Amino acid sequence: MSELKQSRPKGTQDFVPPDSERRRQVEAAFRHLAACYGYREIITPTFEHTAVFVKSSGEGSDVVTKEMYSFKDRAERDLTLRPEGTPGVVRAALENRLRLPCRLYYVGPFFRYGRPQKGRFREFGQVGVEALGEASPLVDAEIIYFGADFFRRLGISDCTVQVNSIGCRTCRPAYRETLRKSLFDQKERLCADCLVRLERNPLRVFDCKVETCRQAVQDAPTPRQHLCADCERHHEQVLSALTRRGLRHAANDRLVRGLDYYNRTTFEYLSTSLGAQDSLGGGGRYDYLVEDFGGPPTPGVGVAIGLERTLLAAPVAPAPARRHLAFVIWLTEAERAAAQELADRLRTDGIAAQVDYDARKVKGQFRSADAAEATCCIIIGPDELAKSVYSLKDLATGEQREVASDVLVEAVRALFRD
Ligand code: AMP
Repeated sequence: MSELKQSRPKGTQDFVPPDSERRRQVEAAFRHLAACYGYREIITPTFEHTAVFVKSSGEGSDVVTKEMYSFKDRAERDLTLRPEGTPGVVRAALENRLRLPCRLYYVGPFFRYGRPQKGRFREFGQVGVEALGEASPLVDAEIIYFGADFFRRLGISDCTVQVNSIGCRTCRPAYRETLRKSLFDQKERLCADCLVRLERNPLRVFDCKVETCRQAVQDAPTPRQHLCADCERHHEQVLSALTRRGLRHAANDRLVRGLDYYNRTTFEYLSTSLGAQDSLGGGGRYDYLVEDFGGPPTPGVGVAIGLERTLLAAPVAPAPARRHLAFVIWLTEAERAAAQELADRLRTDGIAAQVDYDARKVKGQFRSADAAEATCCIIIGPDELAKSVYSLKDLATGEQREVASDVLVEAVRALFRD
């Protein structure tokens, strides 16, 4: 092949059949499961006003400071391709005055300017659910269980769940100061970014991947040790609800997740098969986010799951549903119009049909049928046209027989049945 003039942008992917179909299968499995738990789909824009993310995800978060695709449109508006789902969903729920409580799910593309590697892309798919207006710790547990249920149904058996609590408005300010003091004492171990984080929001130091910063937080006090009585009770109830459901989970006292809006429960799903990017998904509670957007005090909790990593971790990606296609073949120019009419008739009956109008020779049409991975060919020649019959060839067995026009649909359906 000569050198191509264009290639896809770094960090993006093409999904060609059958991979595109496998991906849609995973999305369909997600939609089905989300609906089983009472969630309904919300579709929001792929770009939002930049403030939607800065105000919610947090000015100090890596997603906002380093990874956003932000731009000015032609009218000088500050816009950003969405790097995550929750802020847009909350914004839309308020703007559309949805009745609370409400359970919403989403499926779609997200954008982050990170360094591409296995399981990390600049455009990636996420599926997620958000429960708005539900405060019970049983909801946190149900959402954690929901994600695990999704992975289990896809056959991902090496998935583990880590859970933590990062406190609330009552206990966090004092903890933040304790943490700041502790990290300040070790500030020679912190990277330049973390020195800024120390001032803005020292919890973000837990997200840092730099080895010396990781060591610093190893020795620092954890949010879990500083929960108020209400947060402690909430957390105990989440954990005992998970245990009651038989979901194995591990405590990770340093799991704060990279976004500023979380309070109390945070959780993450990990898979050993993914290498460095081992997080399949994660989420948490965000009881102040709706208020931050100008809404009434409304608790919230949600989870986001990465599609690419889910596909990588699934042992056998779910097979796409067997696709069937009838290829209509015309022998001479005189039957070309009849071939098109037959294809239309089949489509009216819900049978996928295709015609190669370009091929000059029958052999070329058979080649096209092969490339399209057709199930069968329906051949129309002068004899067939005269007798009002068709020759039906099963491409799996090579068997060919004449079929009367009035029973053709039935005969094709019989070949499509598997
Ligand atoms: P986060 O809320 O950042 O933890 O993202 C939730 C999930 O989305 C992660 O666990 C990943 O599975 C997926 N994800 C996040 N960023 C990327 C990316 N750049 N490329 C692929 N998947 C991603």
